[in-house]
Amino acid sequence: MATSNALQSRAAAGTGEAAIEIAAMNKWYGDFHVLKDINLNVSRGERIVICGPSGSGKSTMIRCINRLEEFQKGSVTVDGIPLTNDLKRIDEVRREVGMVFQHFNLFPHLTVLENCMLAPIWVRKMPKKEAEERAMHFLTRVRIPNQAKKYPGQLSGGQQQRVAIARALCMNPKIMLFDEPTSALDPEMVKEVLDTMVSLAEDGMTMLCVTHEMGFARQVANRVIFMDAGQIVETNEPNAFFSNPQHERTKLFLSQIL
Ligand code: ADP
Ligand code: MG
Repeated sequence: MATSNALQSRAAAGTGEAAIEIAAMNKWYGDFHVLKDINLNVSRGERIVICGPSGSGKSTMIRCINRLEEFQKGSVTVDGIPLTNDLKRIDEVRREVGMVFQHFNLFPHLTVLENCMLAPIWVRKMPKKEAEERAMHFLTRVRIPNQAKKYPGQLSGGQQQRVAIARALCMNPKIMLFDEPTSALDPEMVKEVLDTMVSLAEDGMTMLCVTHEMGFARQVANRVIFMDAGQIVETNEPNAFFSNPQHERTKLFLSQIL
């Protein structure tokens, strides 16, 4: 896949302004040391792909960024806001960060449109009419405005995942986190979701994507991060990452998935 013009013309490594700063972050589940000294700085506009074997801590790490998980040591700062136990701070950070999960997590009893309107109305106190206009704007953006009145169960997996992306965008996030957004999809639906993500990247969104879609990584990422056993083992720009992996664990992983 060729890198698109929009992505080429933008500075490869973001704007330099900090979007996310993770310093010496450590997390345990009981006795199990799941994240070990994670250090990661992400600038605004960066597009980062995180890969690594199952169980290496990828989900846990990105869930720590919007405090869906707590960590015990180190610090995480999102758009200048330090994540502490202060609930107000946690709310502030969650407003900045949109998240898309493997299993869509849409509300089955609400229509597509209602799924997209819910958080703007309840969290942002947006008037209903404005929330509806905004929802239709983003459903158009992910190219499914005509599904607005349907329920999630009436949509294909790829369409549901695009609703989940639209729903996150309705909160006007500065950062989007994706946790294996295509791994629950039938193969023929993967492309429509990846295309949506590419178009977000072209618009300059700061993105952290856990994915094993290496074509997407080559096309969109300015950095690829490889995690294993709770550590960031290797990080590099995509061409070097794929053509010249440094660590044995990275080589082994790539040989299994490519
Ligand atoms: P990945 O996303 O890379 O597959 P995860 O972050 O989901 O990895 O999990 C990392 C490790 O932490 C795994 O060994 C997993 O079993 C363990 N783990 C995940 N969630 C919990 C939990 N709530 N309690 C205990 N262990 C957990
Ligand atoms: Mg995971």
